[in-house]
Amino acid sequence: MKIGLIDVDGHNFPNLALMKLSSYHKEKGDSVEWYNGLEYYDKVYMSKIFTFSPDEKRVIQAKNVIRGGTGYDIQKKLPYHIENVDPDYSIYPMHQYSIMFFSRGCIKKCPFCLVWDKEGKINSVGITGLNPDGKHIEVLDNNFFANPLWRDAVMFLNKTKQYVNLHGVDIRIMNEEKAHALNSMKLKGSSIHIAWDNPKDDIIPNLKQMLKYVKRYKIMCYVLIGYWSTPEQDYERIMKLSELGVDPFVQPYRDYHNKRIPTQYEKDFASWVNKKERFKSFSFKDFEPRKGFKCGIYLKNKIQFNHERV
Ligand code: SF4
Repeated sequence: MKIGLIDVDGHNFPNLALMKLSSYHKEKGDSVEWYNGLEYYDKVYMSKIFTFSPDEKRVIQAKNVIRGGTGYDIQKKLPYHIENVDPDYSIYPMHQYSIMFFSRGCIKKCPFCLVWDKEGKINSVGITGLNPDGKHIEVLDNNFFANPLWRDAVMFLNKTKQYVNLHGVDIRIMNEEKAHALNSMKLKGSSIHIAWDNPKDDIIPNLKQMLKYVKRYKIMCYVLIGYWSTPEQDYERIMKLSELGVDPFVQPYRDYHNKRIPTQYEKDFASWVNKKERFKSFSFKDFEPRKGFKCGIYLKNKIQFNHERV
């Protein structure tokens, strides 16, 4: 069979499902290539992770077209026999790293997050092969330390002797043992991603405990805004993180259908925090994103949000 692949989001980050589909079909003796729009294929797989990525515009020339990924259908999953094959990293030669999951799902059910709808309760998953040309590992677990087998995952990662980026570290369940495990891993700057999504969660005691073992420059903290917090709460979270030397990164809330447009305040706040030269040089109240408009007004006016999901 002649198989075509389309990575609808572009090739900025390897698409794990397409890599697994490629391996599966190559093992069966099929020919697999990126869909080129010129030839006719027996089967074309289109994968789209993000709802905001523009859809493929071409008329697909194939007997069978299969669409998958969260951007198309939150429920659709790879069949078990394909989910567990080793990914074919050769289709993304420009990305010299491995992508790994040790678990799927989560223990939490945050109302703004799709993970529970998509993957349900946390469960450990089988370890797939590393990229033979990989220089480091991107660990994409939603909640790495909620996995009951997290100690095995740490042991595996340490055995590879490669640098690791941990994308989902839940600071709310951090403790001394987990912080110690983090300290045992090869981590570069901003490679541990934590989040402070709800201003009502006091993450500071756990963060302080983590900082006894982990260097602050290795941590980056996502801060959700525009969902259930006021500008004062946003500002407070940012300043508390900054006082501890932890790098904040603001994310305005986006809904699954990508209908919600961030407010001007959210854009201005993100633009101040996320551009580090601004964040380090002047305060938010003195930020003047447009002539004659200073952001201090947002804090003075106590802007309230529409917290409803769109
Ligand atoms: S902890 Fe993170 S992954 Fe889990 S439900 Fe909340 S936001 Fe989603």
